[in-house]
Amino acid sequence: MPFPRSQLDAYFVFAEEHRELLEQMERLRTRWVESGYLSSGYKPTQEGRVYFGLEEFFNIQSIYLPTKQLFANHQGGYRVFCPVTDELVTSDFVKGVQRWRNTIQKTEFYLVCSQCQERHLLDEVYGKPAFAFGRYALRFINIGQATPSSKLLEDLQVGVGPFKVVLSRVG
Ligand SMILES: [Zn+2]
Repeated sequence: MPFPRSQLDAYFVFAEEHRELLEQMERLRTRWVESGYLSSGYKPTQEGRVYFGLEEFFNIQSIYLPTKQLFANHQGGYRVFCPVTDELVTSDFVKGVQRWRNTIQKTEFYLVCSQCQERHLLDEVYGKPAFAFGRYALRFINIGQATPSSKLLEDLQVGVGPFKVVLSRVG
């Protein structure tokens, strides 16, 4: 499937990690089709473009993973900041993520902060643009506009649960 050279994806990464989330995500997608916001191929209709606020997109994918993963603007780049001093700690974060990925039990979920000398959990520091850790996400592929509507945000919160929005530039 051909994409424009720079594709932008939006991930809605859910904070909770339980099996029912998948069912809730699927139910929401089905409801969007029934409401006429999505075609059966999960492309936005004219009404859906207004409802989602993301203009055109390719489709929506449900993601569920066996273990927690980092959703971030990997190819487009992002910066990470200490929650105490607001100083840049991207390289500390990258080291922390590498250590966490390389440990078998995935227990070492922290970074050692060179700014405040404390340990932070990897999801306590913040990113610009935002990143998130999770196992369940809805991915809107190749969106035309990056500001989701408040109606979409509300329906995701009510229908599935708390989440973070991660924008990811691809290619
Ligand atoms: Zn710090």
